[in-house]
Amino acid sequence: MAPITEEAVSSLKDMVGKLEARVQDLEGRLSNGSNKPKSVAEQMRIILMGPPGAGKGTQAPKLKEAYCACHLATGDMLRSQVAKKTDLGREAKKIMDQGGLVSDDIMVNMIKSELDNNAECKNGFILDGFPRTVAQAERLDDMLNHRNQKLQHAVELQIDDALLVARITGRLVHPASGRSYHKIFNPPNQDMKDDVTGEPLIQRSDDNVDALNKRLVTYHAQTTPVADYYKKTGIWRGIDASQEPGQVWKSLLGVFHKN
Ligand code: ADP
Ligand code: AMP
Repeated sequence: MAPITEEAVSSLKDMVGKLEARVQDLEGRLSNGSNKPKSVAEQMRIILMGPPGAGKGTQAPKLKEAYCACHLATGDMLRSQVAKKTDLGREAKKIMDQGGLVSDDIMVNMIKSELDNNAECKNGFILDGFPRTVAQAERLDDMLNHRNQKLQHAVELQIDDALLVARITGRLVHPASGRSYHKIFNPPNQDMKDDVTGEPLIQRSDDNVDALNKRLVTYHAQTTPVADYYKKTGIWRGIDASQEPGQVWKSLLGVFHKN
């Protein structure tokens, strides 16, 4: 038998997390009879924007379920590389802990590969944490033009920086699935354990006040212009992300059902 290493365990957990998500997705489709592929016109192609802690990772799984689309969270993808200790993971970890951004080329290729190969994306996608720069937004538009597809919505979860410290320093995550909890606002059923798998929850190494402040500086400098980019194309909508999660969800649905 091969020696047991941390890398092997984390890669197995990653695989199990993905399989569980896939089973949940397939069960959902079976129960509502929606496993027939959607036409381009029926698909949801959404961008969820907002500063760290705004609630993207909390709302995106609900959107994924409601619209049978894939949820691509670039931060989760990078953390999976970090857990596997790949070269990219090692480089990315340094940048992430400093609150900086990984290069546009790497991030664009990551998204391209998912859109090309991830079967869940055939019915549409929810992008969470991408694009984070105007260059990424432009290259996403090029990629979609080649596929004769267009984005329908870029929704910005708007919230004051001051409210984010409590959210980020209390956040707990289940690394394999990306599910997030909060020590006070959304505690797990059992202390420090994921509700679905019972596996341990962790605090992200960049979820501290110092790194958060750097991430906010990066967000305002590099990602706020992305909101302006989508304001120009007319697909931007802002919603109040300081409300309780159920209310944020209602506001989100309000955006999609206006059209
Ligand atoms: P993001 O993905 O935008 O970085 P998360 O969805 O992970 O943010 O949320 C950050 C933290 O705030 C998590 O601990 C989450 O449980 C909590 N949270 C999310 N939405 C709300 C909300 N509307 N009110 C209070 N806490 C929230
Ligand atoms: P998140 O999980 O979205 O908070 O992302 C965590 C970190 O991953 C960020 O602070 C960045 O360092 C990096 N990252 C995630 N998405 C991107 C992206 N689209 N472009 C560049 N860096 C990213």
